Amino acid sequence: MSVFAKKIIAWQIRDGRHGLPWQGTTDPYRIWLSEIMLQQTQVATVIPYYERFLKNFPDIQALAAAPADDLMQHWAGLGYYARARNLHAAAKLIADVHGGVFPREFDAIYALPGIGKSTAAAISAFAFGQRCAILDGNVKRAFARHFGIEGDVKSKQVEDKLWTVAHDQLPRTGIESYTQGLMDLGATVCTRAQPSCMLCPVQKTCVAFNKGLIDQLPGRSAKREMPHRQTRMLVIIHNGEVLLEKRPPAGIWGGLWCLPELPVEQDIFDVLHKRYGLKGRTVRALDRMEHGFTHYSLSIFPTEIAVTGSDTRAMEPGLMWINLEDAPGAAIPAPVKRILRDRLTVNQ
Ligand code: SF4
Repeated sequence: MSVFAKKIIAWQIRDGRHGLPWQGTTDPYRIWLSEIMLQQTQVATVIPYYERFLKNFPDIQALAAAPADDLMQHWAGLGYYARARNLHAAAKLIADVHGGVFPREFDAIYALPGIGKSTAAAISAFAFGQRCAILDGNVKRAFARHFGIEGDVKSKQVEDKLWTVAHDQLPRTGIESYTQGLMDLGATVCTRAQPSCMLCPVQKTCVAFNKGLIDQLPGRSAKREMPHRQTRMLVIIHNGEVLLEKRPPAGIWGGLWCLPELPVEQDIFDVLHKRYGLKGRTVRALDRMEHGFTHYSLSIFPTEIAVTGSDTRAMEPGLMWINLEDAPGAAIPAPVKRILRDRLTVNQ
């Protein structure tokens, strides 16, 4: 047995978590249920749900026979509802295909809906004492740090390396304590932020600890820089009305009314004349507005323009003059609304 596994097992027995409602049982149904509930949910939140769920659906048959609405009602508030749907589908499948008995073989467990490789391994280890390797997010982090595995933890290459470590470290005996120990280590000691290295049973052999790489491991993919764009919007005012222009139906803010827009480097008065047949003068630059889209961020530079000359009004279809005070209530995008509101406050 590796020194790592030996230390994890001894530590789990001495200092690990004991007495959680799903521990001290080899009932695969209970273990499966806990593993699914614990995905993306904290232990403290899971406990009351787990207990209530078992009271209402005490075994696979009860779960398989339950109406979907009942099941969802008992899951309500736990989130990630696909977990409940998969649980139900798997219970039905076990009832139909496996005669209502939870399968023992790893491949049959892994084949059930909603059960990934690591969850199948945890069920195999806890319920059937099988030597199977787990590798959930917490364990990946602890392995990457302890064994000094660099590179993007989400990449296939690094994930393969982590699975190799997971298999290499599997002890011949004590798989239950080892598996629980890895889970406990990742959840309570080798935490994402500020791991408690002083309490760690494998600190002496930890590469990240010894080389001061804790903050760098596990490695993450470089964050893609969000593109940034700039645009100018014209708040063209004439006789208390502001000019709005309808955007094309497709694209950003498609079909909404918007302030006339132009590239920041373009000549305002040229655009004013050629596009709208207007003459004007700059009144002021209004406060810059920042807006975030999913794929880029936008800085809007609004400029207030007063139309000069009374006979020149843009009247083409797709253009609308609207009372400045009514404009924020029109079908306009949120940042344009904010610009117009700001403009109204400036003049109060
Ligand atoms: Fe994690 Fe620290 Fe233990 Fe290394 S020494 S495995 S970084 S808790």
